[in-house]
Amino acid sequence: MTTTDIQPILDRVLAGGRMTPEECGTLLESFDVARTGVAADEVRRRKHPGGVVTYIIDRNINYTNVCNVVCTFCAFYRRPGKPDTYVRTLEDICQRIDETIALGGTGVLMQGGLHPDFGIEWYEDLLRTLHAKYPDFQLHCFSPPEIHNIHLISQLSYEEILQRLKEAGLYSMPGGGGEILDDEVRKRVSTKCTTDEWLSVMRAAHRVGLRTTATMMFGIGDSTVHRVRHLQRIRDLQDETGGFTAFIPWTFQRENTALGRKIKEELTGMDYLRMLAVSRLFLDNVEHIQSSWLTQGLRLGQVALRFGADDMGSIMIEENVVSAAGAHNEADEKTLRYLIREAGFRPQQRDILYRHVNREESVKQDASDSATLRELSVAFAD
Ligand code: SF4
Repeated sequence: MTTTDIQPILDRVLAGGRMTPEECGTLLESFDVARTGVAADEVRRRKHPGGVVTYIIDRNINYTNVCNVVCTFCAFYRRPGKPDTYVRTLEDICQRIDETIALGGTGVLMQGGLHPDFGIEWYEDLLRTLHAKYPDFQLHCFSPPEIHNIHLISQLSYEEILQRLKEAGLYSMPGGGGEILDDEVRKRVSTKCTTDEWLSVMRAAHRVGLRTTATMMFGIGDSTVHRVRHLQRIRDLQDETGGFTAFIPWTFQRENTALGRKIKEELTGMDYLRMLAVSRLFLDNVEHIQSSWLTQGLRLGQVALRFGADDMGSIMIEENVVSAAGAHNEADEKTLRYLIREAGFRPQQRDILYRHVNREESVKQDASDSATLRELSVAFAD
């Protein structure tokens, strides 16, 4: 870390200049997180005037924990044939969707391990059935490693797979499995798809008209140079396709993971806020930056709204992947709206493509009485 004066870089970016990778590296190495945050807040304000911060009501459903690759940072997967593996039944998935709809939910984020036996037909059948039963419900499913796995099993191109899944009802795709998009790091911690493969899946998704998010999980043995390359690769692909709706960085959650036992580095709240703010400034072509309160905790997730984030992500009905690695944060709609309001913004429900969703029930929850505040203080007792 350095105390280099970063103001000239921030001034140039605020004047409309595009940040270079070298400047990005300088900001990521700077102790002056507050100053970077102020600049990111200014960019967030320009991109999203009106003081609105959005959130979504959806549900994570992990259709299987069977996975045929090894990621040393993952506490969720189970090797095929192990006793505690599962594949969710259709009935089970439908029940979870019904519960989400009852809470005002607009969609589902469905992803799972890389099952060695599931070819394209398995995913098509699932999507077709769900889309027929819930035609207006947004199916935001299958990150690039899952698409790559289908490619290996079914021997189809990424574009063919994604076109078929789209026709079966796929609405959009999550950007999971990005971790650090640099093979120097990826190959040390995972046997899943490479950087080029991840980017190629995303390119194919955007080409067939699917919008996706992009993510970053840092603190897995990556250095500043790897983080800069990751951001550069996202920005380059976005210049080419314009298909990313949002960028979501978070820090590695180490509990119960092989990598967590090995790695010395423990990232702090400052590391997270710095990365978030620099992402807002560097990714000038990505509309939304999401706060990851699920991994960082509700308090830091709220502070992130003043470091470039304009979205609080989803309320949490169910989560199995990062909670297996030690992140046990929970929030309902009332809590997220409260946090957004207390940070000085107007909370607004959105759908997966960031279109506003207006439900009377949401606003009714804003009338906080002392009982509500007591409940919320229990939620924050972490
Ligand atoms: S992160 Fe995904 S691909 Fe890697 S082991 Fe876990 S479930 Fe499998």
